[in-house]
Amino acid sequence: MRANRALEDNGWLTVIGFNVAQLLKSPTGTIRRVEVDEVDEGLKKDLRLVSATKGSLKLMRTNAGILVTGTLTHVVETDCTRCLETITRKQVIKLNDEFVPVVDVDTGLPAPRPDDADAFRIRPDHVLDLTEAIRQYAILESPLQTLCREDCKGLCSDCGANLNEGPCGCQSAADSAPKTPFGSLLADRMREAGFEPEEE
Ligand SMILES: [Zn+2]
Ligand SMILES: [Zn+2]
Repeated sequence: MRANRALEDNGWLTVIGFNVAQLLKSPTGTIRRVEVDEVDEGLKKDLRLVSATKGSLKLMRTNAGILVTGTLTHVVETDCTRCLETITRKQVIKLNDEFVPVVDVDTGLPAPRPDDADAFRIRPDHVLDLTEAIRQYAILESPLQTLCREDCKGLCSDCGANLNEGPCGCQSAADSAPKTPFGSLLADRMREAGFEPEEE
């Protein structure tokens, strides 16, 4: 079974999904393996994907629906937290979720509500659409901090220059500033001139 590319013809947008009507009619424990190699336009935009989403999944008929297990990967674009440069990283999505039908495949009547109100649902046209699951896992998987490299120097807080490209003007100005506080310089000059500074 391959990802369903004919969905556009049914008025649905292209999604990473499979028609599972046959599997839903199969006995509990029946397994189908599917290969995913798809670009979902919505995910591409939301997650800044720069590759197709790929991987092998196992779909197993359960009492309540279909258990999806397996790993998908794709490459996403993100910004370095420190220097804001665009970088790419591989994202790994590990799926282990039960999808439950909205409509009973045998009777066409509404299926009973799942025990878990947050469970992913199989669409009324018996398409198991992975898009929303991928989106949720991708958000959970995204680290709070991504760096272009371990020792990224970031941006100068004064002029905004990318310090990975070398020191900026502010840095050298700071370096050439007098190391000695002005007060003690003044005391030295006064001593040289014969004045004794008052002791505190
Ligand atoms: Zn950086
Ligand atoms: Zn600067």
